[in-house]
Amino acid sequence: MNRFLLLAFFVLVSTSACFAALDRGAFTFINYDLELRVDPSGQALAARGKIILRNDSGEPQKIAAMQISSTLSWRLMQVAGKPVQFETQPYTTDIDHTGSVAEAIITLPAAVPPQGTVEIEMGYSGTISADATRLTRIGTPATVALGSDWDQISASFTAVRGIGFVAWYPVEIEAASLSSGNALFQALGDWKAREAQSSLKVNFCWINDESPLTVVANGQLLGIGRASPREEGQGITGCTPYHFAPLGLTVPTFAIGNFVALQQPLTTVYHIPEHEAVAGDYATAAQKLAPFVEQWLGQPHDRVRVVELNSAQAAPFESGGVFFTPLNSEDPKPLQLQMVHQLAHASLASDRPWIYEGVAHFLQAVEREQQDGRQAALDYMSGQLPPLVEAERAVDEAAAKGQSSPAEAERQSLINATDDVFYHTKAMYAWWMLRDMLGDQALRRALQSYRTEQDKEPSYMQRLVQAQSKQNLEWFFDDWVYRDRGLPDFQVESAYPRKLLAGEYVLTVTVKNTGDARAEVPVTAKAAQGEMSHRLLVPAKGTAVVRIRIPAAPTEAVVNDGSVPESDANNNSLKITPPPHSP
Ligand SMILES: [Zn+2]
Repeated sequence: MNRFLLLAFFVLVSTSACFAALDRGAFTFINYDLELRVDPSGQALAARGKIILRNDSGEPQKIAAMQISSTLSWRLMQVAGKPVQFETQPYTTDIDHTGSVAEAIITLPAAVPPQGTVEIEMGYSGTISADATRLTRIGTPATVALGSDWDQISASFTAVRGIGFVAWYPVEIEAASLSSGNALFQALGDWKAREAQSSLKVNFCWINDESPLTVVANGQLLGIGRASPREEGQGITGCTPYHFAPLGLTVPTFAIGNFVALQQPLTTVYHIPEHEAVAGDYATAAQKLAPFVEQWLGQPHDRVRVVELNSAQAAPFESGGVFFTPLNSEDPKPLQLQMVHQLAHASLASDRPWIYEGVAHFLQAVEREQQDGRQAALDYMSGQLPPLVEAERAVDEAAAKGQSSPAEAERQSLINATDDVFYHTKAMYAWWMLRDMLGDQALRRALQSYRTEQDKEPSYMQRLVQAQSKQNLEWFFDDWVYRDRGLPDFQVESAYPRKLLAGEYVLTVTVKNTGDARAEVPVTAKAAQGEMSHRLLVPAKGTAVVRIRIPAAPTEAVVNDGSVPESDANNNSLKITPPPHSP
């Protein structure tokens, strides 16, 4: 099922709510207050708490449903202090690493009217061990799959991510499969967007035999964790409360272990005791890169937080400004890119993902340029392009079939995007294009003048950038930020050389754009002895002409050096055959 069929399915479900018993999209989970008991040696988790659900459908709802990971079991369900009837069913879906959830279907004591709320007290328990079923069943080799789905509770390594990885807190999402193109990411993006204003408070408690453990999560720490002995011979226990409020697009993630915190002026690295030296390499890298990030974003207002994943195969993961990663400093270049990303988060706060994440990804590309030059940066960006081309193609195909209303066309505009391929990759390119158009200085001043508390409307960033560049950028923000117009596709339609008296040439190049987004793009005249480039604004579904002076006979005209993302970069050059009798 592609992303738009899925959307159509959602609409179908919600409009038929009065007939169907279960509307999985009816309730928004607006407030969580949980206590989690984690026993690493038993791989066990037990939770108890309260969740407030708000009915955001247009119909009264008598049935509510909640999903948790399939290795957990529901134990308790109460409303207003009284047990309520509920049934549990296994439900196949790839929102959880096990490829399935345990769904509780709860009959409420009274129907909840539209916009009404109900508080449900619930408990659940079970185990969370490493499980990559959702990946192995679509053919991913087990070692690769477990490197991606590394979440687990165990004596040697406890780290668990939330929505999209492990349903360790209750959610409710219509089934989505990894084998259906972008559908899973779309469903997860929709859920996160819905929950962005919600609050999740969790008291993380642990039980251990001998030594105290530390809890690190990517929310706000509400108090210092204290350890206390349990009954004679029962080991020790402790709790650390964290608050995720508002949740935003954060994936609530916790790690529990025998961590030591390495504190440097800008950075805290939580590492296992044996890895102090490599933890120091991370902090040093951040320290060295701080002046570079400060040039762009000003002084950091927050610390860089790195949490060690004590599993060398685990893929690094970043959310909520905290970076979870195995520590490895053998190759300094990727480490520098990671630290630039985290420094960007520590320096630029924004509730808009295309700004918060987009700028962090953009500065990674700029750092890649610092390392090995512009071509390396363009290669780094184009390595991330294929999923964006794929996602934009899905939008185009839906539009061609008439499935997309104007409101839908705005769905994955950068300003509204909930799918990370847009607010990571497309946003990275948008910032890079702005930099190419305006220059470093104007863009740096614009970014440094940004204040998240003043960002009340989508055009705020446009006004800051225009104030610094003295250029009207309405067209750019319209085509790349406020609307999802897909990607351009450039071709060199024609290229005519003319020899000038002084031995120079002028190459007249006509560039065609068959896409729906305008862009300013470099056009290059190449000769055996060198090349000359000009920038050209090419309209959507149109052509533009540029004349390039070059001191030798041009042999080729090329549009786009890779700095503008386009749907097909294989049709961008035209070889020039010399005129039959040159003067
Ligand atoms: Zn990030």
